[in-house]
Amino acid sequence: MFREMRRKNQALSAEACREILSRGSTGILAVQGDDGYPYTVPLNFVLDGDRIYFHCARQGHKLDAIRRSSKVSFCVVDRDQVLPEVFSTQFASVVVFGRARVVEDPEECHHGLVKLLEKYAPAFMEAGQKEIRAEWDAVQVVAIEIEWLSGKTDKRSMEANG
Ligand SMILES: Cc1cc2nc3c(=O)[nH]c(=O)nc-3n(C[C@H](O)[C@H](O)[C@H](O)COP(=O)(O)OP(=O)(O)OC[C@H]3O[C@@H](n4cnc5c(N)ncnc54)[C@H](O)[C@@H]3O)c2cc1C
Repeated sequence: MFREMRRKNQALSAEACREILSRGSTGILAVQGDDGYPYTVPLNFVLDGDRIYFHCARQGHKLDAIRRSSKVSFCVVDRDQVLPEVFSTQFASVVVFGRARVVEDPEECHHGLVKLLEKYAPAFMEAGQKEIRAEWDAVQVVAIEIEWLSGKTDKRSMEANG
């Protein structure tokens, strides 16, 4: 059901995709928004096995969309270097397709928030745990179960890295 990349020689390995998802700071979530319009929104996130977690407020456009349809896409740009002299760009990016799930289980919510803390604020774990307790009632954790993922880089980078 999911498509193969047309330019297979530019495809990144599964391992390289996971590395990009691990180090990426921002991803763009695409959901099926209002009235048939796609809605894309930037988010911080963490990869945890075959799952991505993000956190957000308990209401809003993206949550309404996810509740209507769990099918989402998520894109992370790892590199974007414009080379004007050759009218090209050195890039690497990953595209994920999956199912978003509003996490209801408190233990899993806590797990997702701790994973986010470990990624974004590892030097502030204790203060972060306090923040989790303070914001508990206001925060929603969402999991994206990854169903398909692909990574792509430009030809020049692919050749340079063998
Ligand atoms: C680098 C980065 C990281 C972020 N990380 C997080 C995160 O981890 N968790 C989180 O909850 N939020 C994060 N945000 C904010 C996020 O992009 C959304 O603004 C927020 O999640 C609210 O989304 P919503 O659909 O509930 O907004 P709503 O207020 O319900 O959206 C209503 C409308 O507001 C507009 N809108 C909403 N967000 C944006 C936006 N970012 N830019 C432009 N227009 C917008 C859209 O037109 C949307 O239809 C981040 C933003 C950036 C730029």
